[in-house]
Amino acid sequence: MTEKVRRIVRIKATGDVVRALSRVVEEGLELSILNASVSPDAVAAEIAVQAVDDEHVRNFLRTLREFGIEVEEIEKTLVRDEDRCLHCTACHSVCPTGAIELKGVEVELDDEECIVCGSCTEICPVGALRIASKEGERG
Ligand code: SF4
Ligand code: SF4
Repeated sequence: MTEKVRRIVRIKATGDVVRALSRVVEEGLELSILNASVSPDAVAAEIAVQAVDDEHVRNFLRTLREFGIEVEEIEKTLVRDEDRCLHCTACHSVCPTGAIELKGVEVELDDEECIVCGSCTEICPVGALRIASKEGERG
C-alpha cells in the first residue's frame, strides 16, 4: 500500500473558503472534515489532510494562507479501549481507510492508516473509541 502523509489542521476563515478548498483537486489531496462550525461571517473547521508527500500538504496549507485563512496544525490520535471492545466490527464497516482490520473474530487498529476522521467513534456502541489530542479529547 502506498504510504501517505497525514496532517490534522484547524482552519478559521472569513474569506473565500470554497475557492481555496477547491484547489485540493488540482493538488491531488484528500480531505476529511472532522467537524465544522459556520456562522454568517466565519467558518471554523478541523480537517484531516492526506497526500502522497509532505510537499503536497505544505503547498495546500500555503494556498489556504494565501487566501487569508488561518491554519493551525494540531495533533490528534484515535484511542481504542480494548477492555470495552466487543469486536462487533461496526467500526470496521465505516472506516474509510481500512485502518480497522479484521483478524479472525477480532478487530485491530492500524495507526498508520488512520486519518482520525472520527467515523468509528460515532458508531461504536460501547464508547470504546475516542479521539485524543494534546488539548483535550472528544469521542
Ligand atoms: S465498534 Fe466499538 S465495540 Fe465494535 S469492534 Fe469497533 S471498537 Fe469494538
Ligand atoms: S478515525 Fe476510525 S474510521 Fe476514521 S480512519 Fe481512523 S480508524 Fe478509520
